[in-house]
Amino acid sequence: MRHVNIPVFIPHLGCPHTCVFCNQRTISGACGFDPADLDGIIEGALSTVSPEDDCEIAFFGGSFTGIDRALMVELLDRAERYVASGRVSRIRCSTRPDYISDEILDILDRYTFGTVELGIQSASDSVLMLSERGHKREDSRRACELLSRRGYTVGGQMMVGLPGATLEDELECARFIADCGCREARVYPTIVFRGTALSEMMRRGEYAPLSVGEAVERTAAVLDIFDGAGVKVLRVGLCDSENLHNGEYEAGPNHAAIGELSASRLFLKRIKTALSDRDVCGREMTVFVPRGAVSKAAGNRGCNRAAINSEYKPGKLRFREDGALSGYAIKIVTN
Ligand code: SF4
Repeated sequence: MRHVNIPVFIPHLGCPHTCVFCNQRTISGACGFDPADLDGIIEGALSTVSPEDDCEIAFFGGSFTGIDRALMVELLDRAERYVASGRVSRIRCSTRPDYISDEILDILDRYTFGTVELGIQSASDSVLMLSERGHKREDSRRACELLSRRGYTVGGQMMVGLPGATLEDELECARFIADCGCREARVYPTIVFRGTALSEMMRRGEYAPLSVGEAVERTAAVLDIFDGAGVKVLRVGLCDSENLHNGEYEAGPNHAAIGELSASRLFLKRIKTALSDRDVCGREMTVFVPRGAVSKAAGNRGCNRAAINSEYKPGKLRFREDGALSGYAIKIVTN
């Protein structure tokens, strides 16, 4: 069964914060949100799916549990009607960690929620402060606890390349997200959009965006941790639709295939680790990878294949699927 999210972007409604990287008008592709559009958005998405698909209405784009309470309840009431009709399985939303409380969850409990995604972004209080997030690491831990206690699936969103963040901060954030019980994650390399505080910081020399290569390297290391912890990564990088190509983008690791590049980098690392104590020179070598992962493991334009051939000089190198493997697991067989 195919899982389909029906995204409903609610840009900046109710959000009093101005995180340095955020221009919600830019990210969501809309200046505002008209509640009258909700049914049209959902019906439009449902018209493109098959009856067997498992559909979820996803309130994304802002801080859903921080918007005007009456509007939040109205949107949830209307979304729940689609659940009651059987056309949609459940609802999810994204929000800030400090917008989760028992009082909020008493409201969400009345609806068919599956997942609440939290914009954790970093587990370092100094990085959160430099990014002007307005919440701390402990807010994220507390929100995860509250959600888990009530049986919600928790997703953690984190960023790579925030002001002041090191690779170690990002690895720590991934470990923190896993330790807090999150079962899903999204990883966003930081992009500088025009008109944001981050753009000003960059102009003043206070912030240097990551290159694509740096973002790929650091994201791959984060994926390694999530994979080891059994956290499913739903997405790496912003969607193409999120105004990366319409003049709002200013700087940073904007690459349509950044998720694939990061996955490829992690496969290469796993293969090299597996070969560190083996001599495959001149031998036939088959690298087994999970179903659907052959092109990622071989690398963009075969770059991993070329790197392995050059460094380890196998007589022959093949990549094959093995349905028993999952995530980034590999198995190497030589003859
Ligand atoms: S909390 Fe979310 S919507 Fe508000 S400024 Fe920060 S990133 Fe943007």
